[in-house]
Amino acid sequence: MSTDSPASTTSPASPEGQPAAPGFDQLKLGPAMLANLDRLGYKTMTAIQAASLPISLAGRDLIAQAKTGSGKTAAFAIPLLTRLDASRLQVQAIVLCPTRELADQVTQELRRLARAEENIKILTLTGGVKMGGQRHSLAFGAHVVVGTPGRVMDLLERGNLDLGEVNTLVLDEADRMLDMGFHDSIAWVASHLPVQRQTLLFSATYPEGIARLAARFLRQPERISVQAQHDAGKIEQRFYEVTESERLATVARLLNHFRPVSTLAFCNTKQQCRQLVELLQAAGFSALALHGELEQRERDQVLVQFAQRSCSVLVATDIAARGLDIGGLEAVINVDVTPDAEVHVHRIGRTGRVDQAGLALNLVSGKEMVVLSQIEKMQGRPAQWHELASLKPASAEPLQAPMATLQLLVERREKIRAGDILGALTGDGGIAGDKIGKITIGEFSSYVAVQRDLARVALRHLAATKVKGKVVRVRLL
Ligand code: ADP
Ligand code: MG
Repeated sequence: MSTDSPASTTSPASPEGQPAAPGFDQLKLGPAMLANLDRLGYKTMTAIQAASLPISLAGRDLIAQAKTGSGKTAAFAIPLLTRLDASRLQVQAIVLCPTRELADQVTQELRRLARAEENIKILTLTGGVKMGGQRHSLAFGAHVVVGTPGRVMDLLERGNLDLGEVNTLVLDEADRMLDMGFHDSIAWVASHLPVQRQTLLFSATYPEGIARLAARFLRQPERISVQAQHDAGKIEQRFYEVTESERLATVARLLNHFRPVSTLAFCNTKQQCRQLVELLQAAGFSALALHGELEQRERDQVLVQFAQRSCSVLVATDIAARGLDIGGLEAVINVDVTPDAEVHVHRIGRTGRVDQAGLALNLVSGKEMVVLSQIEKMQGRPAQWHELASLKPASAEPLQAPMATLQLLVERREKIRAGDILGALTGDGGIAGDKIGKITIGEFSSYVAVQRDLARVALRHLAATKVKGKVVRVRLL
């Protein structure tokens, strides 16, 4: 495989003077949509957007393959939203996703992109949440639903969901839905949709099952693929040879040397994840694990803390991290070498997104050298080795996350907004606005990041203040 990916010809113009990427204004989009994209900071299309939008906006069925973080959501959200008739409160588009987290992420991105229009109702229908609330929301109507196949099936079966007016079906992360055994549920849901519709299938990989799924549900689809290769220059990869006994402790040395704000550390097993997190926490790092055994609520909290920069190291298996939009990472650490060279490419692609340079640090033991040679072959270049002795702590303090996260136990349906939380925190002798980070409004809780050294002050202040006229329970995660 060549390292010269199609992505590099259409990705945003780099300082090295690559050709400028196409803007959204080349597409037939309304002025409100264009203005909103501009407001979101989407100045140019990503490679997959540039390749797919002309096809999807023309109404064709599509199979689109591109790596995680390449902007696939907007690639289906834009055509879907463009076709909506806001005056008809009926479900006109459905997006199926493999997990609740992914469905939540898609809903968030859809809501941001839908701001161009007044009052587009988007509902998330996933398991892990009681069905009553979803049935209630459905009774009030929605334009778009985003859900997992299982829950959508349940709601269809009970007659709470009517898909008779749907004109767009999106299968997001289709490869993963197949891995999770959703083939039959997808088929069942599709059988409740009008035959006259557009179907858009998105996937990070293109295994055989996808071709079969597409043959069943898509009509003369166009197939496009943006290679899973990264711009070689954008990610600096460093390799360190370690013995098994020094592997985990070396992760701490890497962190103290490079001091990245956010790092995703990949292990091959859950066991290794657990041991690494224990070691890092004992050494004073803010590290959390993401693995399949966490409850949904715990997973959500881990991801929020990582996104809010309150956790500097997220330790994950490939399965747990797959498909998640965890972006803008300073570093990825391959604690173990993956036996699959393609997985390596996906892992390191988590760093160095859009216009940022990335750092991928790799620990390799003697017996992993054979696997590593596969990776070198696939990347078309040799590993750059560095000495462990070169790792010197950049400061006497262990690396700390810059922020801490406060959890507010208040439900979304109370219509709490980020501004309410910001107002409560800054008002009346509270803390300065520039010490406050990201605010995340969740279904059952909201989360706000505050500068770490002010966490206790902020906690006390919030506990003694009303948020939107109410006393809310707050805790420090
Ligand atoms: P994927 O589904 O391919 O993993 P996402 O749709 O989650 O990727 O997008 C990854 C990130 O890139 C998101 O934070 C999204 O807001 C951002 N993004 C998408 N399109 C653009 C664009 N054209 N310009 C800038 N950022 C974008
Ligand atoms: Mg996605």
